[in-house]
Amino acid sequence: MTHFSSRYQGVMEGLLTRCRTLSALATRSHHCAPGKRQRLVLSRMFQPQNLREDQVFSLEGKAGDLTCKSQRLMLQVGLILPASPGCYHLMPYTVRAMEKLVRVIDQEMQAIGGQKINMPTLSPAELWRATSRWDLMGRELLRLRDRHGKEYCLAPTHEEAVTALVASQKKLSYKQLPLLLYQVTRKFRDEPRPRFGLLRGREFYMKDMYTFDSSPEAAQETYGLVCDAYSRLFDRLGLPWMKARADVGSIGGTKSHEFQLPVDIGEDRLVVCPSCHFSANTEILDLSQKICPDCQGPLTETKGIEVGHTFYLSTKYSSVFGAHFTNAHGDSSLAEMGCYGLGVTRILAAAIEVLSTEDYIRWPSLLAPYQVCLIPPKKGSKEAAATETVEHLYDDITETVAQLRGEVLLDDRTHLTIGNRLKDADKLGYPFVIIAGKRALEDPAHFEVRCQNTGEVVFLTKEGVLQLLSGVRVV
Ligand SMILES: [Zn+2]
Repeated sequence: MTHFSSRYQGVMEGLLTRCRTLSALATRSHHCAPGKRQRLVLSRMFQPQNLREDQVFSLEGKAGDLTCKSQRLMLQVGLILPASPGCYHLMPYTVRAMEKLVRVIDQEMQAIGGQKINMPTLSPAELWRATSRWDLMGRELLRLRDRHGKEYCLAPTHEEAVTALVASQKKLSYKQLPLLLYQVTRKFRDEPRPRFGLLRGREFYMKDMYTFDSSPEAAQETYGLVCDAYSRLFDRLGLPWMKARADVGSIGGTKSHEFQLPVDIGEDRLVVCPSCHFSANTEILDLSQKICPDCQGPLTETKGIEVGHTFYLSTKYSSVFGAHFTNAHGDSSLAEMGCYGLGVTRILAAAIEVLSTEDYIRWPSLLAPYQVCLIPPKKGSKEAAATETVEHLYDDITETVAQLRGEVLLDDRTHLTIGNRLKDADKLGYPFVIIAGKRALEDPAHFEVRCQNTGEVVFLTKEGVLQLLSGVRVV
């Protein structure tokens, strides 16, 4: 009987708990406006760091060097963590920024007809032997063998793989051309001296696009289309960029350009003509050349970080693998190719290098991991009465400004002063930091809004905040 009763009691309690949970859920959903989500509170998330320079130096260990601003800043706030020389863990904020960058890239590639694919990283040696690049690539190619003794590399690029893939499509028609295939994947390069953090690592993300056209003229047109898409991409990110004539290197082909961000630590030396916008990597010019080949004006020299590279390949790869299509006359014809790279992790680090101050990270607005950080008053302070006002502001923002859902962070570490949390927020570079200080107690409440990218500070009511934030663009 006792046994039965306790079991019965257990069942009843279980039922009651379920009912209470269900009714709580019902009540909660009743009170919630549709689309309302849980608040993103910093105390329950992966914590940003605020390390001193010497602490960062020891993080990199003996193998790594602290060689540039973006690397130092990204380590200091915990955006990246060294795993082995030239390899980094990307922490949650960084992955958010990278996913946004990939979305912008997807938009621009698909706007010109790009179709996204995903090719294996493990790339068989016979593909590379077919183009002689198994030997030509030298020690930068990271090679390995499987249990059967079959040789592979971890692909740094995919010209061979994609051309073999297209060659396997026996019914490719001229009507399907231009064919623009691209992917965003991890790439590997056995760098002799990895440095500058994500700028020159051994493992990195790249967007690589491969294009197939029916004639050299059509391929040139596609080349122009992709270059324009790259220009639009860097414009949307608000980054200063240059398009320079470049060497074709180990990729080959007959025409090549680099997209460069001008920075002092850049490893590429560029010459620029201020009068006609001619620009080239010095590797393709005679070093003594001081005169612009286009307008005969004087050339000036600058340094840059290569963030994009375009190549017109002609039939260099399609002839090796037999990438044919059926032309308008029903005959088989070799595809004309181009290939186009963007360094995804490199763009992130280069953007931080270009936009940040010595102390504060600044992002291209579109890529900031979170757009808004709200800082409520310190627990126990005079202003603590305004805590709920900030929480309501949080809910109002995410309810009324649809694009900011998932983009607003509440720094609820209220054991810290506003000043300390503002320091962290400054360092991380949220485009908007909203503080509830003394004036949040006024009627109506006024919030201190710091627009980090312009340096402006304004005091706004809730309505003012909502109006300002409704103009924020996200991707
Ligand atoms: Zn010129």
